[in-house]
Order: sequence, then C-alpha cells, then structure tokens
Amino acid sequence: MLKIENLNVEINNKKILKDFNLDIKLGEIHGIMGPNGIGKSTICKTITGDSNYLVTKGKIIFNSIDLLKLNITKRAKEGIYLVNQNPIEIPGVTNAEMLRIALFEKTGEVVNIYEFNKKLEETCDKLSIPRSFIHRGINEGMSGGERKKNELLHLWMLEPKLIILDELDSGLDVDSIKVVCDNLKEYYTNHNVSILIITHGPKLLKLLNASHVHILNEGKIIESGDFNLALKVGKEGYKKYNKAYLVSENEKNE
Ligand code: ADP
Ligand code: MG
Repeated sequence: MLKIENLNVEINNKKILKDFNLDIKLGEIHGIMGPNGIGKSTICKTITGDSNYLVTKGKIIFNSIDLLKLNITKRAKEGIYLVNQNPIEIPGVTNAEMLRIALFEKTGEVVNIYEFNKKLEETCDKLSIPRSFIHRGINEGMSGGERKKNELLHLWMLEPKLIILDELDSGLDVDSIKVVCDNLKEYYTNHNVSILIITHGPKLLKLLNASHVHILNEGKIIESGDFNLALKVGKEGYKKYNKAYLVSENEKNE
C-alpha cells in the first residue's frame, strides 16, 4: 500500500531523513519509535505533503501512485490521513461545515444531510464526546485529549485508507487512550486500511496490535522487529543506538 524508497528530506537546509525506507502492506499496522527530534514527525508530514519539507531524493508510492507528484489536497483525497501530534485550532470553521465541504470535494457528490448528521452523532457517541462538538469550531478551545478525539471524528467521516498517528497518546489520559484505541480498532476492522503509529512507548502499539515495529535513528530505520522490539526499547531506551555508545562497546570488545 505504501512504499517509501531511499527518501531524503531536508528542512531549512538541515538533512533529517537519509535514505529512509518503509514498506507497509494493506492491512498492516506498523509502529515507528525513536528519540525526540530524530525525524518522526518529518516522516508523517512528508507523506502527507507538507511543503515545508523538501524531498531531495527518493520515492513515496501509495497504491501505485507517485505521491511526490501530488499536492497535500490530492494526497488527502487519495485517502491519506494524519492525526497530528498537536492538532491545530481553526476557530470560526465548524467541524460540520469543514466535513461537509471535504466530503463533497472527495466524492464530487452533494452530501445527504440526514445521513451525514446521523453518522456524526453516532460517531460522537462512540468517541464519548458531546454531540455539541459537531457545531464547534475545529479543535476550538478543546483540551489536548478532546482534540485527538475530534480528529478521529473527522477520520470516521472522511474514511481514509492510510492512517498516520503522530504521538496519538500525548495529551490523552489512560481512559481516553483506551476509548480512542478501541475506536480505531473498530474502524480498522470495518475498513480495509493500514496504520502507521508514531509513539514513544509500547502501550499504544500493544493496544492497537502493531505487527511491525521500527526504530528510527540517523535518518533511517536501523532496526525492525515485532512488538518485542518495542518492549525492549521501552525497558532499555535508545542508548544502544547512540553512536558514542556503540563506539565504546566496540572498544570494550576489542
Ligand atoms: P520528532 O518528531 O522525531 O521529535 P521532528 O521530525 O519533528 O522530530 O524534527 C526533526 C528535526 O527537524 C528536529 O531537530 C527539529 O528541530 C527539526 N525541525 C523540524 N521542523 C523544523 C523547522 N520548521 N525548522 C527547522 N528545523 C525543524
Ligand atoms: Mg514529533
């Protein structure tokens, strides 16, 4: 479904990704872990088409489409959806207004208001958020956790095929993490999708049953495995991937 090959990405002349590769097949759930500032959000934003991130080399292929030829809007229409690490507020534009227009843009058909409202109300109930959110400004005055749930409300309405979750767990209390993960699992079960999870700990990967776990360092994936890799990193941290540490370990062994 998503194939990234030798991707090199810069921001403000700083090289962040260097020959980054990733292959996610339909139905797979992958997790990427890595220390702060290593380039995890850069991966998300480059896939979605944020023009601040300059791709200097490589390919991103999504269902046989060359994504680098499409702008951010066209990529969204193809079914790529990012739940941002810090979802922004768009005061003055309500969830309902934005979703109605976005759905029209995506399908080219005028939205059936009765069906649309019914689905919005049902999804609010599922996510344990008040139905009044439907007519609130996008993320306006919402807490961190409410914003994440609001982004999932959008997800159910827009029905993406590839879901990217950038630190979904940040800002969510323990109960909300459970609600959100159960909700995502329900979406995953009812739709033919793949998920890319960016996270710091094993918890989210376990709740969502991630099948593949990757460690990002020095601009590329340096180790891949199953959920056990996340547990190992959760316990030991990223120390062993640190260059200075590797050199000192090699010297000890010589
Ligand atoms: P992560 O999500 O892994 O914490 P990011 O992908 O957000 O890391 O950032 C990778 C690196 O790029 C960091 O060093 C960060 O400071 C830098 N960076 C991100 N955005 C910008 C920007 N707009 N201008 C300059 N540097 C940036
Ligand atoms: Mg980040």
